[in-house]
Amino acid sequence: MPQPKLFIPGPVDVSPATYEAMCTPMIGHRGAAFEELYASIQPGLQQIASTTRPVFLSTSSAWGVMEGAIRNLVQQKVLNLCCGAFSDKWFDVSLRCGKQAEKIQAEWGEPINPEAVRAKLSEGGFDTVTLVHNETSTGVMNPLSEIASVVNEFDDILLVVDSVSSFSAVPIPTDDLGIDVLLAGVQKAMALPPGLSVFTVSEAALARAESITDRGYYFDFLEFEKNHGKNNTPSTPAIALLYALDSMVSSILEEGLEHRYNRHLENNTLVHQWVEDSGFAHFAPEGFRSRTLTAIANNLAIDVPGFIKSVRDKHNLLINGGYGKIKGKTFRISNMGNETAASMNELLGALSAELPEFL
Ligand SMILES: *Cc1c(COP(=O)(O)O)cnc(C)c1O
Repeated sequence: MPQPKLFIPGPVDVSPATYEAMCTPMIGHRGAAFEELYASIQPGLQQIASTTRPVFLSTSSAWGVMEGAIRNLVQQKVLNLCCGAFSDKWFDVSLRCGKQAEKIQAEWGEPINPEAVRAKLSEGGFDTVTLVHNETSTGVMNPLSEIASVVNEFDDILLVVDSVSSFSAVPIPTDDLGIDVLLAGVQKAMALPPGLSVFTVSEAALARAESITDRGYYFDFLEFEKNHGKNNTPSTPAIALLYALDSMVSSILEEGLEHRYNRHLENNTLVHQWVEDSGFAHFAPEGFRSRTLTAIANNLAIDVPGFIKSVRDKHNLLINGGYGKIKGKTFRISNMGNETAASMNELLGALSAELPEFL
C-alpha cells in the first residue's frame, strides 16, 4: 500500500513535478549556477508576497524564522497575539529568548480583536507585535489588514506575520499593509516537502536588527541581507528544496495568482458544504474561517480517530484529528497546495461513505 494522500494541514501532498525538481543534480552553493537559481526564484516570490523587498530563504522550518524574528527585532517588549497552538507558542518562544513579552489571549476558535490590540499597544512600551495570520490549529483566519492598520497607528512598532498556512493561497499585500516581517514555511500552503522557509524583512526591521547585539548567527537577518546582495544564503541551504521552490513558484505564476486564490476559495467552499450537509458545525466563527483548511467541531460526538482510520484504511486518504488541546473535539481538512475540485470531491465522497458507520 502506498502512503496515504495527505489532506492534513501540513505537510500536504507533494506533486510529482516537485519530486522531480528535487532530483536535479546537486551544485555547490558558492558558484554561478547557484546564484542563478537563487536569482531566478526572487521575482516570483516577491510577486507572491506582494513586496519589492527581497524574499530570504532559510533552511529551517518556520519556527526558525519565528524565533529569529524575536531575536532580531525585540529590544523593549513584544506583544504576541495568541489564539491557538502556534500563536500561543510564539509567546512562550519570546520568553525563552529572554525577551520582555506580553500577550493578548483569545479563546481557541476565536480571532484576534483589533480593538484589543489598539488598547494594549496604547499602554506603551511595545516595539514588536507577532500575528499568526491563519491559525492552523483552529482554522481561524485573523483579520490581517485591520490588525495591521492598528499596529501602523503606532510609531516604531514592527509587525511580524506568520503566513505559514496562507502564503500564496490568499492575497497578502505585505508592503501595502506595512508588514515588517512576513514568513512562511513551505510544507503547507506551498505544498513542498518541509525544511525551508521564506521571509521578507522591511528596511525598518533591518535598522532595528542593527541596533541589537545578540542576534546569533544562523537567523541573523543582516547576514541574510548581506548574502542576498550576492544571490546567496549565509550558510549551505537545502538546495534540493530550492529546486522544488523554483519549480513551484513557476507553476504558481503559470496558474496565475488570482486563479490560485479562487481555486482555494472554491475548494474550501466544497469542504464547508460537506460540513453543513453532514450536520457538523464549524469550529471557527463565520467571517473568520480559513480558506486553506477547515476545522470541524465534533458536535456529532463521533469517534474521530476511528473515523480517520477508516478513511485511511479504505480510501488511502488522510485527514487530521485535531491539534493540541482540541484533539478529538475537532478534526481538520486541508485544501492547501495543488488540490482541485475533483481531488476534494474524492476526499469528501470517502468521508461521506465512512461517516454513517460512526453516527
Ligand atoms: C505549521 C505551522 C507553524 C510551524 O511550522 P514548523 O514547520 O513546524 O516550524 C507555524 N505557524 C503556523 C501557522 C503553522 O501552521
